[in-house]
Amino acid sequence: MDLKDYIANVPDFPQKGIQFKDITPLIGNGEAFRYATDCFVEYAKKAKAELIVGPDARGFIFGTPVANLLKIGFVPVRKPGKLPRETIEESYELEYGHNTLCLHKDDIKPGQNVLIVDDLLATGGTIQATIRLIEKAGAKVVGIAFLIELSFLNGRDKFSDYPIYSLITY
Ligand code: AMP
Repeated sequence: MDLKDYIANVPDFPQKGIQFKDITPLIGNGEAFRYATDCFVEYAKKAKAELIVGPDARGFIFGTPVANLLKIGFVPVRKPGKLPRETIEESYELEYGHNTLCLHKDDIKPGQNVLIVDDLLATGGTIQATIRLIEKAGAKVVGIAFLIELSFLNGRDKFSDYPIYSLITY
């Protein structure tokens, strides 16, 4: 199955010059979504993942079915103000300003093998902050899995010491 057939390329969204990769045709197709999920599940098994972490919001879409099929837990990394209990936080720079990501302090156990699953690797800022959160919690990042990697942005250079797996590369 060629998963690229299920990605819609939307020019100039959300701003001029950006080509937005829309994953909704893929998740709207049962065969394609399950195929992508099965690829992540096989990778998670090889990486010996004990927990899946997914960043807000599309990491939830791809991470939760993987965790569920493997009967392991899923932990969300969220934007500020969404998690109700004590959190740890990490900020990262954007072209203008910065973003902050949060993790419940006790959702991840020290020593756990964690696989990060997300929709798309662009500049890598989101995942770099997510790695820092997981490591602050004392756990180990055993891999990072993406549906899509925009390789021309060289995002993977921000975490080249970690195993990276992408199903679609542009
Ligand atoms: P980054 O931190 O730059 O790697 O990007 C983080 C998130 O922004 C990705 O997980 C996507 O959800 C979203 N994103 C960035 N660029 C695009 C794009 N060209 N098309 C669709 N989503 C994007």
